[in-house]
Amino acid sequence: RHLPTPQVLPQATLRLYNLQNISRASNLAASPLLLNSVYLVSQPPIIVAGIFSSKPTSTICPSCRQHITTQVTYRLGKLSYLLCTSLCMVGCCFGCCFVPLFMKIFKDADHYCPCCHFHIYRYKRL
Ligand SMILES: [Zn+2]
Repeated sequence: RHLPTPQVLPQATLRLYNLQNISRASNLAASPLLLNSVYLVSQPPIIVAGIFSSKPTSTICPSCRQHITTQVTYRLGKLSYLLCTSLCMVGCCFGCCFVPLFMKIFKDADHYCPCCHFHIYRYKRL
């Protein structure tokens, strides 16, 4: 009478344990696939490079997925410094050489999303 009980219980727990392992394993195996498929379905890659100039551009934000017109901030780029140094070398050292540093047309442009302030693209002059 005492024999069946200890034999049955370990088998039952073993089966339960195996089932749990299987379900865990299947969850682990399934979750990256699920994540990938969800990522691919809901977030198709948005290619933003190439369509930007130094001016605000209409696009879809890769971060918040809104249709937006980018906010542009200008920053000093290679062209600004290059023009500054070349003006210096030519001899315009008394103020003229700093002109490229203040002119937007010589600066690089950073495009930001106005909704989530995500940095979308940097337009480089050089
Ligand atoms: Zn955004």
